[in-house]
Amino acid sequence: MIQRRKSRPVKAGALAIGGDFPVTVQSMLNRNPRDIEANVRQAAELEAAGCDIVRVAVPDREAVKLIPALKAAVNMPVVADIHFDYRLALESVAAGADKIRVNPGNIGGEDRVKAVADACRAKNIPIRIGVNSGSVEKCLLEKYGGPTPRAMAESAMNHARLLEKYDFEDIVLSLKSSDVASTVEAYETAAELCDYPLHLGVTEAGTARMGLIKSSAGIGALLLRGIGDTIRVSLTDEPVREAAAGLNILKAVGLRTDSPVLVSCPTCGRTRIDIISLAGEVEKRLAGCKKKIKVAVMGCAVNGPGEAREADIGIAGGDGCALLFKKGEIIRKVPEEDIVDELMKEIERFEAP
Ligand code: SF4
Repeated sequence: MIQRRKSRPVKAGALAIGGDFPVTVQSMLNRNPRDIEANVRQAAELEAAGCDIVRVAVPDREAVKLIPALKAAVNMPVVADIHFDYRLALESVAAGADKIRVNPGNIGGEDRVKAVADACRAKNIPIRIGVNSGSVEKCLLEKYGGPTPRAMAESAMNHARLLEKYDFEDIVLSLKSSDVASTVEAYETAAELCDYPLHLGVTEAGTARMGLIKSSAGIGALLLRGIGDTIRVSLTDEPVREAAAGLNILKAVGLRTDSPVLVSCPTCGRTRIDIISLAGEVEKRLAGCKKKIKVAVMGCAVNGPGEAREADIGIAGGDGCALLFKKGEIIRKVPEEDIVDELMKEIERFEAP
């Protein structure tokens, strides 16, 4: 059981981030900001995939128009991602953004920080300070000899202090590096220095394959230590894949239990049926299922039911057939061609205790 770090919750729209609230999954739109329709479509896809929060880049005034369009189309909180121009932050707040991502140290002066803090406070909007290893200030790079985890944590605290000066504490922090070990250490350091909620991510993690592995290692390690309140898997791929990956990481560490867990054996010389295809088919058929159930797809009848004793329902392959079992007890034998259908019928009948 994960003991979560106690962070002070903030609210983004109807959703709370931090405290004892569930860890949320977010992603970022990647369509052209001029194409409102494409962005709205992509946000709707993300929402349908189970994403909790959507972020959109606001590089100029024209892009602010995306915010009301997205708010009208989806129920997820909409985060405006601002770099450097505080006026875009103010306009995004006025346009209905539920959260702003901006680094107060980069917007050019205390009066601007105050203006953004005041605007967000007036609407109860949190600000995420997003420190990346590439954005650490020169003085800290010199002090620490590079963008070390300690330098990243200090940079985040310095940005936070600028907001605290104006009594603004609805802050979320992120400290992302493309290096997994540095990312983990940076978040661990920040977790000790403050109680702000933490947005986890490994930045520029890579393509769907390696990016997912790096994100799972970094985000997973932190979540298992109780650190992290919202996550974003960064992939060089479609956002909907990021959301799916984020949800699967939460599932893998036991922080999301509202969908089936599939246990399948690695196969070995005892396997007599095509367990690889069967497991793939079962996984496909379970997509979208909202039952809390553990399903096992095992390669042999000798060890299968025993190895998957913890599963609620499962199959163990035989020669051209499979045994269907519940909690390790065999209930019947089914021919190979009916295995998936029979298993799905049992899953439909199953009622979680
Ligand atoms: Fe091998 Fe059977 Fe174990 Fe699968 S369940 S790995 S086939 S022993």
